[in-house]
Amino acid sequence: MYDYLIVGAGFAGSVMAERIASQLGKKVLIVEKRNHIGGNAYDEMDENGILVHRYGPHIFHTNSKEVFEYLSQFTEWRFYEHKVQAKLNGELYPIPINRLTLNKLYGLNLTSEQEVKVYYEKVREKRYPILNSEDIIINQVGKDLFEKLFKYYTKKQWGLEPKDLAPTVCGRIPVRTNDDCRYFTDKYQFMPKDGYTKMFERMLNHKNIELILGTDYKTILNDIQFNKMIYTGPIDYFFDYEYGSLPYRSIRFEYERFNSGFYQSTAQVNYVDAEIGYTRVVEHKYLGGQESSTTTISKEYSQEVGEPYYPVPNESNRKLYHKYLMLSESLRDVIFCGRLAEYQYYNMDQVVANSIKLFNGLVCGK
Ligand code: FAD
Ligand code: UDP
Repeated sequence: MYDYLIVGAGFAGSVMAERIASQLGKKVLIVEKRNHIGGNAYDEMDENGILVHRYGPHIFHTNSKEVFEYLSQFTEWRFYEHKVQAKLNGELYPIPINRLTLNKLYGLNLTSEQEVKVYYEKVREKRYPILNSEDIIINQVGKDLFEKLFKYYTKKQWGLEPKDLAPTVCGRIPVRTNDDCRYFTDKYQFMPKDGYTKMFERMLNHKNIELILGTDYKTILNDIQFNKMIYTGPIDYFFDYEYGSLPYRSIRFEYERFNSGFYQSTAQVNYVDAEIGYTRVVEHKYLGGQESSTTTISKEYSQEVGEPYYPVPNESNRKLYHKYLMLSESLRDVIFCGRLAEYQYYNMDQVVANSIKLFNGLVCGK
């Protein structure tokens, strides 16, 4: 008999399990469909001793002291600031767009932030209201930068035009007037020193937590007894697709290894041209900081089918999700949390913050 059945051993499931086991002394069973913990943040050493992020690059960044301190119980950190370049017609440009991007792309000589502001003011096209991912970029930097750096990457990544995606998708990428080439500007930017998987192992190493891997929870539901469930898988699957499937975006990762020092000059290169099939190339040893005479890269091909990685934020999907949300709210003993169960394009720190909040709510409601 378990107090909680938790479906999924990603951030949402693992934080909930750790809190409930360590703070409430209750018994938890985690059932995870994949044969490992960590969800999409899972990483492992490859045969060349390079820590590989199996489900795409996971960069920890947050402004939340609470989230940082919470995770610091389970890991030491390595300082890491992510840098990304966009490859357009064979040339590399800093992304997010900044002063250096403009100067290189248009052969300009903008020297101050003020000049950059004036430039954006000249090229931007006012859009009001901002209804989608095309509006949000064109409203800031105009059509040409939108078409060069956002339009085709977005189409490849989502299988949709930017105008058919919520503004929050392309709106994740800031537009800068300075020379800051970092992808994120959050206060805390680190990578777990021994990797994410090791951090998860420490979180789940508790006598009150049992873990079953490689098992879909539906296949054992009748064989286990529990009081409450915390569900972190896709919400439509939970309800047997009663209202139809929610679209999720998946990725096929193609790995390549080279007997050379480095493949590219930064951890991530975004291929923003339409002609190249993949969206981005990640060179993993930048992320983990391993020193090696070999290197491992992964190319990401976005696709509709396969393991669900991204909810697809737009109005029609939001409406469909809302129907499932209504169903979920009628269930008193099941809590839905995480990126798939809430159908939200969350970063890791948001999932951790939400899970801690949810746990605190459980404690109050107890
Ligand atoms: P998941 O990690 O998806 O965990 C859910 C778990 O539930 C999975 O392990 C799944 O196998 C399991 N499950 C599902 N259905 C069942 C079932 N029926 N039975 C049993 N188990 C089941 N965030 C950042 O902050 N920084 C980044 O740089 C970053 N990069 C990303 C890159 C990619 C390519 C992707 C896809 C995501 C990225 N994220 C990043 C987001 C990050 O992965 C998520 O915010 C976080 O992992 C979500 O945790 P979760 O527990 O909600 O979901
Ligand atoms: N994007 C783009 N060009 C880029 C970088 C991002 O068009 O060079 C758009 C694209 O739609 C992408 C979204 O902005 O899906 C969010 O980018 P982010 O890097 O946050 O995506 P993630 O790391 O979550 O895949």
